[in-house]
Amino acid sequence: MSIAFQQCINPDCSATYDVGQILTACPKCGSLLDVNYDWNAARVPMSLSEFEERWKSRLNPVDYSGVWRFRELLNFAREDQIVTIGEGQTILQKNDQLARQCHMQPGTLFLQYEGLNPSGSFKDNGMTAASTHARMVGATMTACASTGNTSASLAIYAGVTGHFRCIVFIGSGKIAFGKLSQALDYGARTIQIRGDFDDALARVRQICEKYPIYLCNSVNPFRLEGQKTIMYRILEGLGWEVPDWIVVPGGNLGNSSAFGKAFMELRMLGLINKVPRLAVINAEGAATLDDFWNVHGLRWNDGRPDSSLLESRYQKMDAANERASTLASAIEINRPVNLIKALRALDVCDGIVRKVSDQEIIDCRARIAATGFGCEPASGATIAGVMRLRHEGVISASDRVVCILTGHQLKDPDLTMAYHSADPALMAKKLTPAGVQHTPFANPPVVVDNTEKDIVAALGL
Ligand SMILES: *Cc1c(COP(=O)(O)O)cnc(C)c1O
Ligand SMILES: [Zn+2]
Repeated sequence: MSIAFQQCINPDCSATYDVGQILTACPKCGSLLDVNYDWNAARVPMSLSEFEERWKSRLNPVDYSGVWRFRELLNFAREDQIVTIGEGQTILQKNDQLARQCHMQPGTLFLQYEGLNPSGSFKDNGMTAASTHARMVGATMTACASTGNTSASLAIYAGVTGHFRCIVFIGSGKIAFGKLSQALDYGARTIQIRGDFDDALARVRQICEKYPIYLCNSVNPFRLEGQKTIMYRILEGLGWEVPDWIVVPGGNLGNSSAFGKAFMELRMLGLINKVPRLAVINAEGAATLDDFWNVHGLRWNDGRPDSSLLESRYQKMDAANERASTLASAIEINRPVNLIKALRALDVCDGIVRKVSDQEIIDCRARIAATGFGCEPASGATIAGVMRLRHEGVISASDRVVCILTGHQLKDPDLTMAYHSADPALMAKKLTPAGVQHTPFANPPVVVDNTEKDIVAALGL
């Protein structure tokens, strides 16, 4: 008997469902679902440091995994059902160079570098959990819509494990080549539709409802269970101390939602004594959450957010054919599917939301990379957010701040090159349309004749 069950997050419904069911919304009321647990029947360690012990038995794949090492906190599968490819070997890194640039004290700023996952983004934390559930329910075909990284992640799990095949839906246009090439390379059946991410997700949800295909987008509640472990590893990296702030880019808001749930549960279990504050950073061109939170004052409100606000905003969006637009393609999303769960996370974590411009995003991406942590544009939003919040005085110089670097630099080399090349044609094509006028942190290659004299002159020797 499993101690886990699925449960509707709407407090006026709270319907529960078996973990053996494949659901992406509550059949009764249409709300999002959580995976919840009978914690009284669960064997949960007395203290978080017990999880560290697992490192000693690294030859056991579920102990080696940075996700399943914490399996008592996402206890929905039998150990022999777990699908793992060694995800979550990621590290918390103190970064005093960036701390200085953010006018913070040394030893206060940390990067959680999730680009080191097998497919190069944090998505693997969730996909190992969704893949495990897909296997539990005997799915042979899986699918997702993606701005890129979800498809790369699903494709690698399908490819490595051979447990199921996968289909990925992408919009036309802005998918970064690093990501698309992964899905193709790992053998995913790739369907490119005319439309953007929001269109692709609506379509794949419809198709998965009608045909026997298992949906792996972050409306899948099991995925978010895996993503909780990013927070556990951060606590582990801080010797089980809780930081003051977690800063994360906001796209579909799966991460934000998962982080809130992680802390809600740890507090309830008495495993932590304080909850960090959460700062979710939107791109200006895809700032639905920022708009709801800061302009319209939408709140979780004990599970009863003002849904009329949501409907009227989305109707307006459709009427104006308003589309998300940002260079940070991983967060180029106008209808974040986990919005309501993110409101809960912001409530639990006394959170805040900010939006930053593409100029700030790609400058900060370059600043992070210059300290040796290559990340993709969306991840740059974190440091851009910290700079804003330092300027506003919301984050203080001595606060301990952890930024989630969500994806690897090599996902989107075209944009990196456009930034560094100082080539006016590339700039005009890639950056200027997004409102990026300057590249103050560019490091262009120096072109010289192949003579010792010219090279020495160029080096200023
Ligand atoms: C998916 C993704 C995001 C957005 O995360 P959400 O959980 O959808 O908010 C941010 N950065 C990268 C690199 C991503 O792949
Ligand atoms: Zn319900």
